Amino acid sequence: MNGNSRFVCEADEDKFREECGVFGFLDTSEQSTDASLMTYYGLFALQHRGQESCGIAFSNGEQVEFKKDMGLVSEVFSRNALDQMVSFAAIGHVRYSTKGDSKRINAQPISVNYKLGTIAVAHNGTLVNAEVVRELLEDGGVVFQTDSDSEVILNLIARSAKRGFQTAVKEAMQAVKGSYAIVMLTENSLIGARDPYGIRPLCLGKKGDAYLLSSESCAFDSVGAEYIRDVKPGEIVMITKEGIQSIHEVEQTITSTCAFEYIYFARPDSKMDGIDIYKARERAGEILANKHPVEADVVTGVPDSGIPSAVGYSRASGIPYEIGLVKNKYIGRTFIAPTQELREHSVHVKMNALKANVQGKRIVLIDDSIVRGTTSKRLITLLKEAGAKEVHLRISSPQVQYPCYFGIDTPYRSDLMASHNSIEQMKQLIGADSLEFLSTDELIESLGGANRFCIGCFSGVYPLSTPVGI
Ligand code: SF4
Repeated sequence: MNGNSRFVCEADEDKFREECGVFGFLDTSEQSTDASLMTYYGLFALQHRGQESCGIAFSNGEQVEFKKDMGLVSEVFSRNALDQMVSFAAIGHVRYSTKGDSKRINAQPISVNYKLGTIAVAHNGTLVNAEVVRELLEDGGVVFQTDSDSEVILNLIARSAKRGFQTAVKEAMQAVKGSYAIVMLTENSLIGARDPYGIRPLCLGKKGDAYLLSSESCAFDSVGAEYIRDVKPGEIVMITKEGIQSIHEVEQTITSTCAFEYIYFARPDSKMDGIDIYKARERAGEILANKHPVEADVVTGVPDSGIPSAVGYSRASGIPYEIGLVKNKYIGRTFIAPTQELREHSVHVKMNALKANVQGKRIVLIDDSIVRGTTSKRLITLLKEAGAKEVHLRISSPQVQYPCYFGIDTPYRSDLMASHNSIEQMKQLIGADSLEFLSTDELIESLGGANRFCIGCFSGVYPLSTPVGI
């Protein structure tokens, strides 16, 4: 590796990655001006869903403007810039790219000017028929500005705007297939739409006279708003100064919300489709303890998402919970490694074992998932180097054996450790003294027992057909 290169810390590489977070705000009161500021705080709370680029589109009632760039929310927006973004309505986006390159032009929100004005969109998800629709639009003379499949939605709306804006939005949503949680902004309205399977999350909040939309409810807490409900799968909501209305609902939907949102992506202080994320992770740990007990001295969790399940495992097993691994909070997603030798020690920079708690102990280590297996191996080595006598790894999800096609960045199938290794082989490869996973039924039990989740990356059975050729 080049001495000055930036690289993604392996602990982060060895996870599925959420693609994006979206947020929207519209104040129905007179004299409202701080929608951009509210959106900025909302995006801060959603930063874990994407760190490559971010942006806000905002309206003062007469025109839609933008500010977006590569970088974190704290890097892209200054106090000065926000002071000038006077608005009553705004949408925002944080992005980690899967479709479309990581470059400024693909940062969202993106917009088109059309017959009735300007429309901006921020999208979380992946359209599985984007290529086909794009080709049809190009054949009809549309020129695309970005590689992003979200631009397909904008052009579909612009093309049929002559039939009225609401009709155009409904038709566009019916034409695209895949996963989407979308917020859109025009000069005078905020629109939220969720795909008919509800694969990606979107919820609705209220603060005084203002309505909010967000990928996760934790963003409502950050601006003092209250969570009202989730946007239903297949529903389109439209918010204007006159209030909120549901302009479209699909009667019969087979809800298939991404199970990984509950396992890893979402913040533990969020609530999604009526389920508290923290509580779901705790329940997964309790089930693991009941199904896969082991004699041990200490239970510990891999920070951050393994901790709630470790608390659940400890409670159900009666084995005390201790902090065994300490995460460096001040490290970004990438950092500079000056030499190859230091690169090999990078795992110590990101995470270190707490010797006082693990030395001479039999440890139950809880993590949320195994993707490539590299992190599990390194963490077990860390704990053993710190003096742990045994490390029993318990995973609060089933084996990840298949890629995701719905907005999550996943490695090739051949790189997924569980796709070509038995549990016994994985145990040997990562150096654990024992290794156990939740089954898919147990995962669903941890989520309340109803079969309304996508578990495609565990089972290979997806809620809708996957794109050809991927
Ligand atoms: S395949 Fe996996 S990561 Fe993708 S939407 Fe389904 S559960 Fe989520």
